[in-house]
Amino acid sequence: MKSAAFDYAKPKALSEALALLAEAGEDARLIAGGQTLLATLNLRLSEPSVLIDITHLDELKGISVIGEQLRIGALVTHTEIEDSKLIAQHAPLLKAAVPHIAHRAIRNLGTWGGSLAYGDPAAEWPACSLALNATMLIAGPAGERRISAQDFFIDLYTTSLEPDEILVATEFPVASSNQVFYFHELARRHGDYAVAGLALVANKVGNVLSDCTFTFFSVGATPVMATRAQALIDGKPLNEDLIASAVAAARAEIDAIADITNSAETKRHLIGVLLERGLKHLIA
Ligand SMILES: Cc1cc2nc3c(=O)[nH]c(=O)nc-3n(C[C@H](O)[C@H](O)[C@H](O)COP(=O)(O)OP(=O)(O)OC[C@H]3O[C@@H](n4cnc5c(N)ncnc54)[C@H](O)[C@@H]3O)c2cc1C
Repeated sequence: MKSAAFDYAKPKALSEALALLAEAGEDARLIAGGQTLLATLNLRLSEPSVLIDITHLDELKGISVIGEQLRIGALVTHTEIEDSKLIAQHAPLLKAAVPHIAHRAIRNLGTWGGSLAYGDPAAEWPACSLALNATMLIAGPAGERRISAQDFFIDLYTTSLEPDEILVATEFPVASSNQVFYFHELARRHGDYAVAGLALVANKVGNVLSDCTFTFFSVGATPVMATRAQALIDGKPLNEDLIASAVAAARAEIDAIADITNSAETKRHLIGVLLERGLKHLIA
C-alpha cells in the first residue's frame, strides 16, 4: 500500500515550522526519523495534507550538559544516544536501554523526540524519561512551556502535546555519584517490543535505597510508576523480606492491561519478576 498524496515542507528554523503548523492546523504532521510515521502513512492510518520535515531544525539537535541538567534535543537519534560519552557518564540508564530499541538501522534514523511524542507504551524512552524525572521542553504559538514526564504521557499513544506544538528537548538531572539503576525488558526476540520492561533508578548508600523510581513499560496504556512499592523500599535496609513486600505491592498497584499475545495476569506476574530481579541485582 502507498500513502495518500501530501504536500511537503522542510523549514530551516523552529519559528518557521511553528508558523507552518499553525497554518495547516490538525491536518499537518511533523516528521522526524520517519520510523513510525512512514508506516502509518503507507497503511493509511494517517492521511495528513502536509508533512513538515523538522530534521533541519538546529534548535532540536544535540546533547549537552547545562549546570546539573542533561539536555537531549528532540532530533537526537537513538544511535547518537548509544554512542554519546555524555550519556554514558550522566545518564547510564539510557546507555543500558538503547540496545533494546529495534536494530541499529532503525536506531540510526529514529529520534528521542519522535519516540516520546508518539507515546508508545511499549517504547523504552517514555519509561526512561519518567524514571529520570525528565522535563519536556515544548514550543508552541504562545512560546515555550515545560512539563514533567509524569504529566506528559496521558494515555495510549496520547501525550499532552497539542497539534500546533513541537517537542524541542528534554532535560533531567545528571546522575549523582551514588545513583544506581537497572534496566531490563522481557521480549520474545532481541529488538522486539517488550512484553514487559522495567527502568529502575535510585540512590544507594550501603544497602539502603532512596529516591527510588520503579517505572514499568508495556504493561499499561502509558509507562507507569509503582509508587507504593517505591515508598516501601525507600530509606530502609534492602533485604529479601522487603523485596518480597515491594514485589507484592507492585503487582497489586499496577492495573496491567493485556496485549494481543499476553494476558493482564501474565503482565502482572512479569512486573514482579522484573522488580525482584532488579532489586536483587542492586544488593548482589
Ligand atoms: C521495525 C521497527 C521496530 C521498532 N522497535 C522499537 C522498539 O523496540 N522500541 C522503541 O521504542 N521503538 C521502536 N521502533 C520505533 C522507533 O524507535 C522510532 O524511531 C520512534 O518511535 C519514532 O521516532 P521517529 O523519529 O522515527 O519519529 P517519526 O516516525 O518521524 O514520528 C513519530 C510521531 O512523532 C511525531 N513527532 C516526531 N518528532 C516530533 C517532535 N519533535 N515534536 C512533536 N511531534 C513529533 C510525528 O508527528 C509522529 O506522529 C521501531 C520501529 C520499527 C520500524
